[in-house]
Amino acid sequence: MNRKSILVVDDDEMTRLLIRQSLSESLYNIIEAENGSQGLSLFYEQSPDIVLLDVQLPELNGFEVCRRIRESLQGKDVPVVMITGSDDTASIDKAYQLGATDFIVKPINWSLIEHHIRYILRASYYLESLKKSEKRLEHAQHIARLGHWELDGTDGCLLLSRQIAEMCSLPGTLFGHGLDYLIALIHPADRLFARNIFIKALSNGKAFSLDIRLKLANQSLLYVQLQGRRLESRNSASPVLSGVIQDVTELKRSQHRLVHIAHHDALTDLPNRILFHQQLERAMERAKRRDRKVALLFIDLDRFKNINDSLGHEIGDCLLREVAARFRREIRNYDMVARLGGDEFAIILDAVENVQEALHFIQRIVALFEQPFYLNNKMLYVEASIGISLYPDNASSGEELLRNADMAMYQAKRAELHHFSFYSADLTESTIRRWSLENGLRKALENNDFYLLYQPKVEPGSGHIVGVEALIRWDRGDKPVILPSEFIPVAEETGLLIPLGRWVIQQAVSQLRSWQKTLCAELTIAVNVSGRQLYSDQFTDYVCSVLEKEGVSASLLEIEITEDHLVPKKRDGDCQETLRKLSELGIKMSIDDFGTGYSSLSQLKNLPISTLKIDKSFVDHIPDDEQDVAIVKSILSLAKNLGLEVVAEGVENAQQLACLHGYGCDLIQGYFYSKPVPVDQIEALLESDKCKWLKSCVDTESTQGEARLDRSISVNPSPKGLGESGEKSIISEAIGK
Ligand code: C2E
Ligand code: MG
Ligand code: MG
Repeated sequence: MNRKSILVVDDDEMTRLLIRQSLSESLYNIIEAENGSQGLSLFYEQSPDIVLLDVQLPELNGFEVCRRIRESLQGKDVPVVMITGSDDTASIDKAYQLGATDFIVKPINWSLIEHHIRYILRASYYLESLKKSEKRLEHAQHIARLGHWELDGTDGCLLLSRQIAEMCSLPGTLFGHGLDYLIALIHPADRLFARNIFIKALSNGKAFSLDIRLKLANQSLLYVQLQGRRLESRNSASPVLSGVIQDVTELKRSQHRLVHIAHHDALTDLPNRILFHQQLERAMERAKRRDRKVALLFIDLDRFKNINDSLGHEIGDCLLREVAARFRREIRNYDMVARLGGDEFAIILDAVENVQEALHFIQRIVALFEQPFYLNNKMLYVEASIGISLYPDNASSGEELLRNADMAMYQAKRAELHHFSFYSADLTESTIRRWSLENGLRKALENNDFYLLYQPKVEPGSGHIVGVEALIRWDRGDKPVILPSEFIPVAEETGLLIPLGRWVIQQAVSQLRSWQKTLCAELTIAVNVSGRQLYSDQFTDYVCSVLEKEGVSASLLEIEITEDHLVPKKRDGDCQETLRKLSELGIKMSIDDFGTGYSSLSQLKNLPISTLKIDKSFVDHIPDDEQDVAIVKSILSLAKNLGLEVVAEGVENAQQLACLHGYGCDLIQGYFYSKPVPVDQIEALLESDKCKWLKSCVDTESTQGEARLDRSISVNPSPKGLGESGEKSIISEAIGK
């Protein structure tokens, strides 16, 4: 056992000696001081476990020493026992006031002193232990943000622990107006519920636990768990409720955060698919009850993948956030915008009266995309396609409503005029067809089920074939034919046209290479290219590499682009740059289907175009339709003035041929000469000198043209080997096939 050290401060040597003799040396280590200042310095030096202090001391008296001991850090809890005269009650009073623990009166009873000291040391030990455990408890409660409360039925007082007072920023810990005060601390919305629980607990004595909010004086909220039960008291008429309050605000916040994360998209902080579906179901239920409609808008950004690929994901993310912010600003409080994934968003318009109301809103959404987006100092125009479906008109379940809005969105993507489209039942059929077409195309691309047909371009005067246009065909075996006009747009939308277009270029150029060796060195080959291909990355590089690999001069390759792909759209970026690069390489550029689009004179002047192909629709009715004649003539004169070559498309009879020749059209293309035909047939045509025969046909057209047409015979070509038509062609006859 540890020896306790006792500091004895007494100027009387005899007293010190007697104290030493009265205490067992094996248990106590006695330090002696003969005056106040020596006593103090020994106290600071040795930190004794107990001090016996005479009141009357030279230099510093006992009171002063006691005061200074109490003031010091190590002397706060050390027991100090004053030694006083038996009748000196004033000194005893003063000693207690100054913090003395106990006193011993003179004359000292030496036989009891050791008991006395042992008792004081034991009491001091318990006090210290109690203080330590209180401290530990306080520390633990502080960490747990937990405090104790007690509602006393006798005096009606509410006692709160210091932790609770601190947590709630309260001025004190004791409140006279008990239960009312406790209830007043609670958020008004939770008060009734809490009061009922308290009253019930007072009567049934069962433990309770409440999750409630406290409203603090500064208006902030504290989420707490309030637990308690009735304490058994002597006076059962006025029971005591007691318990703990724990601040669980952080826990609640993180729970809320978790719930938020589970229901929101991390990038835009918009509701995600899960929350969207929940809200959609609710909106539909409400609409059903109130006999209203719900409009669902499915919105997909156009060409988002391109933006991501070309400008980087960071810009892509910025764009999505900015789009989300625009939507958020536009919707009403009770509507909802969600991000369904990627660049897909959905807006639920709650309680719509009629389609008109939805339309009005859609126009506002469309307008959001008329303003450019500024992302990392870049200005970007982005378009979006919107599909709309209505509940209950178009669907009976949330899933169906979403599916239909999705289909309508695809329709909107294809539509030229609007950026939005309403769902209709027909759409389902056409969408299913489109989806199966898309799948079919993917497989066909993998299996290489495509081939090219070639249609000659002929000089009307000489009858020479100066070039051919390569036209793609899809070999579907026994299945019904699908023409390029149907599958090319689908391939374009799905991005399949990029690999398909590359295949066409490769195939056409290598075919030309082989003809150069065997037939005609100067023949040109034209391939059709859509905007999506043309403005895709590395188009120019790819064309160059093919020409180089095959050893074909760029001047023999012609690219046909329809007018609408020439009109620079905001989203196409710098299309002029691509066109310029291609023409610098020497590749010729034709505007296909000229007259059907919206190209302007300035474009014709500024773009590096070499040829205009007059659309078949104008050729069809000449010479009978005066307007068409006027249009054709003016296209020809416009082209002459701009130094452009003109090809007439879709020439089907001798009369059209004669007129076009007469108007000065440079080249002719159409069934009258030949349908698009497979390699062997176009080779036969090229080999034959008989094209020149056409010249005489033109010369004698006025008298014999019709008769010749009647005599023409069928070549009956079919895919991959024969031609595709059942119609007859003059050339077929001319070459004797
Ligand atoms: P286009 O480039 O204007 O091609 C002319 C279309 O008219 C061809 O249809 C051709 O078969 C047809 N045609 C030619 N002469 C006559 C005629 O006298 N009478 C009639 N009724 N039709 C005639 P096709 O081959 O079905 O192609 C349709 C369109 O598909 C093409 O129009 C072109 O825009 C596109 N296309 C074809 N092949 C490709 C390709 O490889 N790539 C791309 N991007 N588009 C292609
Ligand atoms: Mg063409
Ligand atoms: Mg055309």
